[in-house]
Amino acid sequence: MIHEILPVGPLQCNCSVIGDEQTREAMVIDPGDDVEQVLDLIRKHDLKVKQIVITHAHIDHVGGAMKLRAATGAPVLLNQNDYALLKMLDVQAAWLGMAAPEKVKIDQSLSQADTVKAGSLVAQVLHTPGHTEGSICLYFPAETMLIAGDTLFAGSIGRTDLPGGSFEKIIHSLHDRVLALPDETVVVPGHGPLTRIGEERESNPFLVKR
Ligand SMILES: [Zn+2]
Repeated sequence: MIHEILPVGPLQCNCSVIGDEQTREAMVIDPGDDVEQVLDLIRKHDLKVKQIVITHAHIDHVGGAMKLRAATGAPVLLNQNDYALLKMLDVQAAWLGMAAPEKVKIDQSLSQADTVKAGSLVAQVLHTPGHTEGSICLYFPAETMLIAGDTLFAGSIGRTDLPGGSFEKIIHSLHDRVLALPDETVVVPGHGPLTRIGEERESNPFLVKR
């Protein structure tokens, strides 16, 4: 598997480019910004982007989606519970003092237990509401890897004080769906360093047994 993690934009969202070494088919997760650099990685590895997956509709994760869609022709996928947030991208841009991106059009909604494929790579969708209503994580069982969006970070969890956030729901999502994964699962959070499920289970202050 080819996997490049590129922190993009002013909030340094971890954008993942994940490709199949044989077929060169790929998916890009959370192209929040810096699409030219994302495209450089795609060219470097000679990849064909088949899917653009958005873990949730915050501007730092979705801001570059339409540019990448225009450059690759790949569909943009997002859980439908975040469509309302997507309509507020201009408001989100104002919070951050950024220029509003163009309107993002979603090609397909992703729901719990859906799969996303690129070549031989298969990711299972975990619907993990809490940071936003439509937050999802992507679990790659063959690679024991989780792309966690802003649901889980090394030593922390996603904030729940923005519109659509719920502390109760994120804790429920984490215990029900994320901690159900094997300890050795490598976690790629939406921001910051990588971690493992076992490490978070043992030491994350939000997750240790209450
Ligand atoms: Zn977020």
